[in-house]
Amino acid sequence: MSEQTNSSEKRTITVLIPCYNEQESLPILFDRMDALVAGSETLDYTLLFVDDGSKDNTRPLIKEYATKHPYVEYIFLSRNFGKEKAMYAGIENVHTDGLVIIDADLQDPPELIPQMAELWMQGYDDVYARRRSREGESWLKKATSRWYYDLLQKVSGVAIQKDTGDFRLLDRKCVDALKRLDESERNSKALFSWIGFKKIEFLYDRDKRVAGKTKWNYLKLFHLAMDGITSFTTAPLKIATWVGSLVSLAAVVYAIVILVKTFAQGIDVPGYASTMVVVLILGGVQLLSLGIIGEYLGRIFMQTKGRPNYLVQEQKINK
Ligand code: UDP
Ligand code: MG
Repeated sequence: MSEQTNSSEKRTITVLIPCYNEQESLPILFDRMDALVAGSETLDYTLLFVDDGSKDNTRPLIKEYATKHPYVEYIFLSRNFGKEKAMYAGIENVHTDGLVIIDADLQDPPELIPQMAELWMQGYDDVYARRRSREGESWLKKATSRWYYDLLQKVSGVAIQKDTGDFRLLDRKCVDALKRLDESERNSKALFSWIGFKKIEFLYDRDKRVAGKTKWNYLKLFHLAMDGITSFTTAPLKIATWVGSLVSLAAVVYAIVILVKTFAQGIDVPGYASTMVVVLILGGVQLLSLGIIGEYLGRIFMQTKGRPNYLVQEQKINK
């Protein structure tokens, strides 16, 4: 659709910015966005702030900024729903040819948007920004994220973009596709990969947060990782089948050994160690399998309740 847009005509693009307690970063973000919007000849910008239940001065700041600029839109959610839902709230309300998602803390430099848009004009639908470096992140965070994505890629069979966050430019086609995926346990990374379309990577250096603190901790990251796995693949459910089959096979072999020994050497009473080993291993495997089933069951439960993904307190959208 957008490929047919006349090149002399400006393409419209929304910059979606999820915010949660970002009062320190916002003034800097506003300045940098102002410069970007003012200097743009090929793009017609809309800025869409989604406030994810901030408790600080974020909302008044956004409102004030919106009164100064007609192209600024906002959605204030009724409470903190998490970045995933905040992004979805934005995606559902995009009415432009394209969409860019950036973090409010300026880790994703907005100045790169024009370069990403060039690739978009060449006909790519999903220009995803891949980090060349990850400054300000610990060795552990980098390593765990690498292992996790390698694993996910292997088990799911879907091509997953490494060192890539939510910073990307999406064509209208992708936005419409994402709107149709109204899953309750969202993992955008999985969804971006799943929808397909013409993707191209764009290398960049991820900066440090300009101000404030990260809202992530290892518990939150663990939940996100679990969401990623469960929304991509049912492979873990099959682990139970495989391990169960192997253990059963071993049990049959061992049973034959015991029978033969019993017939040959008579009844062998001592057997505490072997009994305990079998009981413990089987108990462990069963609990693990139950846990895996539980992870999926929990998500099925959340989805069947059919609750909306987010609730809006107040919004200004120029549709
Ligand atoms: N964010 C959000 N809701 C949350 C947590 C974070 O909308 O519950 C936003 C946050 O304001 C920021 C972006 O998501 O714009 C990324 O968050 P953060 O910088 O804390 O994550 P990191 O960059 O450390 O992965
Ligand atoms: Mg950040």
